[in-house]
Amino acid sequence: MTVNTALSVCPHDCPSACPLVVELPEPGRIGRVHGGEMAYTGGVVCAKVARYAERVHHPDRLTTPLKRVGAKGEGKFAPISWDEALDEIALRLREAADRLGPQTVWPYFYAGTMGHVQQSAINRLRRIMGYSEQAKTICSTAASTGWMAGTGAKWGVDPREIPESDLIVIWGANPAATQVHLMGLINQARKQRGAKLVVVDPYRTPTAEKADQHLCLRPGTDGALACAVMHVMFRDDLADRAYMARYTDCPERLEAHLQSRTPQWAAAITGLSVDEIEAFARLYGATKRSYLRSGYGYSRSRNGSVNLHAVSCLPAVSGAWRHKGGGACQSMGGVFDLRRTLLDGLDVPAAPVRILDMSRIGPVLTHDPKDLAGGPAVTAMLVQNSNPATVAPDSGLVRRGLARDDLFLAVHEQFMTETARFADIVLPATTSMEHADLYTSYGHTFLQVAKPVIAPVGESRANHRVIAELASRLGAIHPGFEMDEWEMIDQVLVASDLPGAEELHVLGGLDCAKVFEDAHFLSGFGHEDGRFRFAPEWKAEGLPELPDHLAVTDAADEAHPFRLITPPSRHFLNTSFTEMPTSRAQAGRPTALIHPEDCAALGAAEGDMVRIGNSKADIIVHAKPLAGIARGVVAVEGIWPDGFFAGGKGVNHLTSADPALPGGGAVFHDTKVWLRACHPERERGISA
Ligand code: SF4
Repeated sequence: MTVNTALSVCPHDCPSACPLVVELPEPGRIGRVHGGEMAYTGGVVCAKVARYAERVHHPDRLTTPLKRVGAKGEGKFAPISWDEALDEIALRLREAADRLGPQTVWPYFYAGTMGHVQQSAINRLRRIMGYSEQAKTICSTAASTGWMAGTGAKWGVDPREIPESDLIVIWGANPAATQVHLMGLINQARKQRGAKLVVVDPYRTPTAEKADQHLCLRPGTDGALACAVMHVMFRDDLADRAYMARYTDCPERLEAHLQSRTPQWAAAITGLSVDEIEAFARLYGATKRSYLRSGYGYSRSRNGSVNLHAVSCLPAVSGAWRHKGGGACQSMGGVFDLRRTLLDGLDVPAAPVRILDMSRIGPVLTHDPKDLAGGPAVTAMLVQNSNPATVAPDSGLVRRGLARDDLFLAVHEQFMTETARFADIVLPATTSMEHADLYTSYGHTFLQVAKPVIAPVGESRANHRVIAELASRLGAIHPGFEMDEWEMIDQVLVASDLPGAEELHVLGGLDCAKVFEDAHFLSGFGHEDGRFRFAPEWKAEGLPELPDHLAVTDAADEAHPFRLITPPSRHFLNTSFTEMPTSRAQAGRPTALIHPEDCAALGAAEGDMVRIGNSKADIIVHAKPLAGIARGVVAVEGIWPDGFFAGGKGVNHLTSADPALPGGGAVFHDTKVWLRACHPERERGISA
C-alpha cells in the first residue's frame, strides 16, 4: 500500500537542518520520517527524527491553555480558553509595565525551533513594546567571538569539500553522535583518499574512537595545544610564509611570540605527551589539504573564545586555505543574506533598552544589580522555544528566580517542561509539522521552507500566531503581526532578492554556497583590510594580544580535584527528545564517565552511584569507567531533566553563569568539582 507523504524540514538546533519526507498514514497523523533530497544530507536523517511521530503524537503533548492552581513549580494547572489565557497574559504584561516601565518585561527565547518566522515574532513584539533585550549567549556566542576575531566572517569552507581532504581535524565536536552527515563526508575522504582523521576532545567520544589520532587534552587547554602546533610549523619550516605575507596581519610577531610555546610547554598545560603534540603538528603542517572542523564544545569555557581564535589560526599558518579540501569551518550561518527587517520589526524606531544576558537568567531573576544594568527587576516574562530551568547554567539560582511570587511567567511550549511547571499560564505550541517556516543552517548552505503537513495537535497554536494575538491585545502595531506565516516567509525572501516562498518550496531548497575564492577567503578575509588577524581587536582588558593559553578557567584544586564537562547526548537535543521513551531508553540514565583509575580511587565500580559536587550543589549519578578520558575529568552527557537524577538535581545545578571572555557565552564545560562514592541506602540508614 502506498502511503501519502509530504515534505518538511527539521527545526531542531542541529547543523544539518535536514529536509524531511514525512509519511502521512491518516489525516492528522504523521508516520515514519525519512530524509529528503539534498546534496549535503544525502537523504539521511538521525534516528530520533526518523521516529518523530513518537514526539508529535506523544500523550504528554500540551493541548490546551492552562492556568496555575498550585504553588509555583508544583505543576498543578487547570485548563482555560485561549481568550482567557491571552487576556490574562496581556493584562499582566501591561500591569507590570505600568508599574515599573516596559523594561521590567523580559521576553525570553532560544533555538527550540530554528525556523526564522516562529523564532522572531517574540523579538518583534519586544522591540515595539520597549521590553528588555536578550543577549543570545547560551550556545554559539563564545565560539562566534573567537572565530570572528580571526576571520571576520561567519562562514568557512563548505563541508562538501571534505571528500577532497587528506586530513580532517575535528576539534571539540562529536559528529559521529551529533552530525551524522559530516561523518559520512569524512568516511568518503578516508575511503577514497586514505585521509587521516584527528580528533581533539577531552574524552573518547564515538568520533574519537574512529580517529587515527585522539588528542585527549584537559578541558580549557586548547589554546596551548594550538600554539604548540604553530610553534612546530614555524620551527620545521612547515608554515606557508608566502601565504601569510599576503593574507595575514603580523606573521613575524606571531613567530617571535610562539618561540616559547613549545610542545614541552603545551604538554605541561594540556596533559598530552610531547610526542603526541609533535606528531600532530608535523602531520597538520605537512598536509596542505587539511580540513579543520571547529566545534562548539571547547568554546564553552571562560577562555573559550581565546582558545577558538588560537585554533582558527592553524590554517592561516599552514596556508591550508589555499587548497581544495583545505581550510576550516566553524559555522556556515553567514552565507545566508536574509534581510531581517520584517522578521525583527527593524523598521520601527526602537527605544534604547538594556540587554539582559540569557545565560545569566539566574542572577537576573535574583536581582543581581550588575545584571539588571540599573533598570527595574524583571517581574514579567514570556518564554518560547527554551527551557531555562534545566538548560541554563546554575539551575538552582534559575529556579529560585522562577519561583518568585512577584514574577509573572507565561510559557508557550509543546510539553510540560521544568520551566513550564513554574508558569502562571502555559500555552500549547505547535511542532514544525503543524506550522510553516523558513530555515537556514549553520552546517550547510541550503535555504529551505516548509509548510505544515498536519493540522495543529489539540488546541496548540504557532508562535507567530500567538504573538500576533498578544500584539493586538497590547496595541503593538506592525505589518508582521497582520500576515500569516507563508505571507511573511514570501515577503522576507522577496526583500532579500531570493525566490518567493512557493518557488522555493517547489525547488526544494536553494544552495547559497559561496564560490571557491570567497569560501576560502582568497578574495580576502572579512576584516576591512582583508587579512586574517593573528592579533585580534578584542576590545577588552586582560586578553592576550596573540594566540595563547589564557589561565582563567575554574581550575581544579585540592578541594575540587576534578573538572566537569557536560557534552550532548546522541539521543537528545538539549532537553528536546527527553520526553520520548525510545530516546530515554537508548540514553540509559544520567551517568558520569570517569577514568578507571579515578573510579578505583573512589571505590566506585561500574553502575555504582557517585556524588559530584561543588559550592553550588551536589548531584547523584551512576558511574561508568572510561579508559579514554583524561584523569581528573568527569563527563556527564545530555541534559536530563532533574527528575531523572537520584537526588532530584540535574547537572546544571553545578555549572556557573560566569560569562566567557570577552563577549559572553555560557561556560558549561568549565567547572571544578569533587567526586565521592555514594551509598544512598547507607546514607538513608544513617539519617533514619
Ligand atoms: S536533529 Fe539534525 S540530523 Fe536529526 S533530522 Fe534534525 S537536522 Fe537532521
